[in-house]
Formats: sequence, C-alpha cells, structure tokens
Amino acid sequence: GDDVIVAENLTRVFSIRGRAPWEKPTPFTAVDDVSFRLRRGTTTAIVGESGSGKSTVAQMVLKLLEPTSGQVRFDGRDLAQMSSKELFELRRRVQPIFQNPYGTIDPTYSIFRTVEEPLRLHGIGTRRERVARVRDLLDKVALPTGVMDRYPNELSGGQRQRVAIARALALEPEVVVCDEAVSALDVLVQAQVLELLNDLQSELGLSYIFITHDLAVVRQIADDVLVMEQGRVVEHAPTEQVFTDPQQEYTRRLLDAIPGRSIELAGSRILGDLEEAQAPTTD
Ligand code: ADP
Repeated sequence: GDDVIVAENLTRVFSIRGRAPWEKPTPFTAVDDVSFRLRRGTTTAIVGESGSGKSTVAQMVLKLLEPTSGQVRFDGRDLAQMSSKELFELRRRVQPIFQNPYGTIDPTYSIFRTVEEPLRLHGIGTRRERVARVRDLLDKVALPTGVMDRYPNELSGGQRQRVAIARALALEPEVVVCDEAVSALDVLVQAQVLELLNDLQSELGLSYIFITHDLAVVRQIADDVLVMEQGRVVEHAPTEQVFTDPQQEYTRRLLDAIPGRSIELAGSRILGDLEEAQAPTTD
C-alpha cells in the first residue's frame, strides 16, 4: 500500500519506582493513544518538548520497545506478530539514526569497518564488493574516500553524522527513523545534513520519521507534523499549515521558541498594532 508505517492507538506505560523501597511503583503513561501513517517517500516529523514521548514512539516503531497497547505495522504487518525471519527483514528495512552517532557507531571501528559491518552481518557481497559499496555510500553522503581508514573521533560532528547516515543506508532501507539526528550540530552543518537527507529521500525514495524538539528544522524536511505534548498528539497537520495556521496554543508556543521567528512575528505584531491604532473607531 501507500502507507509504509502505520501506528494505531500506540500507548506505552512505564512503571515508576517509588522514592522509598516500600512505596508501590506508579504507572506512568509516556505515550498515550498515538496514531499516524507514514506515506511512502514522505517525511513525518514528531515534535514536542523534552519528555513528551517522541523517543518512546520511535523505539516502538523500531521494535526496540513493546507497546503496552496498540500496534505498529510495517508494510501491513503487525510488528508484534512477525516471525524471526520477518524481524530480520525489519532490521534491514527500518534503520535508526540517533542524535549521538555513537549510539550506532563503535569508536574503535574504522570508518570503513563502521559502514561495512551491516553488509557483513547480513552476508551481503564479497569483501571486494563490499569495499566498492562502502566507497559508493561515502560518496552518497559526500565524504571523501580518504576517511575510510580514519576513526570516528578524528572527524567533525557533521562528518560523524554522515558516517552514521552512510551506515544506516548500507542495507538499502525503506524507512529511516531520525531521532534528534541533527540536534547536536550547529546550524550551518545542520542545514547541510538536512539537505543531504532531502536529496537521499528523492534519490532513493526513502520515508522518514523525523523526531525533533526543534520546529525550525521541521520546515526544512517534513511533509506533515505531529505535535506531541505529555504523550498525546495535540496537533497533526501538513507542515505549511502548522507554521501558518497552528490550531493549538501549545504549537504556537513551540513556534514562538524558534529564533528569528519571534522577531518576524514581533514585526507583524507592531504593524498590526499600528493598523489597529489608525483604524477609525466605529462606536
Ligand atoms: P522525548 O523523546 O519527547 O524527550 P521520551 O519518549 O524520551 O520523551 O520520554 C517520555 C517520558 O517517558 C519521559 O517522562 C521519560 O522520563 C519517560 N520514560 C522514557 N523511558 C522510560 C523508561 N524506560 N522508564 C521510565 N520512564 C521512561
């Protein structure tokens, strides 16, 4: 079908230990009845403040965490019902990229080994073919072949994130779950990595779930936006609509937090005030 990922009524309850050993654990609902569809070849952003449940949703989509209720379907198949063979496929076709590249890359591995490893683990190609494939992947993420025998800590943050992207692409995934993937980068590098992700999307037909606390980056990458507050979806709309006509006070507050935008808004507010002041009174 057209929907590559479908999340239906996803809920996740954690059990929070009491401060004292005799206190009973209390249930805490981190994700509360979240539903969305990711259309093939598009980007759905999940935004919200820290603690709103975004990563918990990502973890359930990646099947790193089980939902308490509700389900995630990939290509129509419920993740909870998958055979071990289907799960192996899922691990190939849905890839994560995290804020900290060291979540997926090992600092003791050379860049070559880092990008080659998923191919090796999935038994893809001869060594020779894998070398060619790694070169190709590094080229795709605009890294020079020379970085192959370097180590992650010898690279810049932006280059390291490109390595994490190359590694995530090695197995030709269909879905990439980016969890704060550009948040640690400074604004210019952030823009470059977002452009790279956009280019890769059109070239390879990728679908992204793009998690961020920062609405400013959403505008550069997302087709539609899910705004989360305390585990719930408070707004879900096409990106342009979220920016021009937010329905929720909470979304407006997130928009106000975007640097530069407040100046833009303040400008229009002052103009608005002037117009109001000049408008003839009618009573
Ligand atoms: P976000 O990604 O939006 O910052 P998270 O999904 O990481 O939010 O967390 C949502 C809420 O769930 C937070 O209050 C967090 O403390 C809580 N939480 C996340 N993981 C666990 C866990 N394993 N055990 C208990 N609470 C958790």
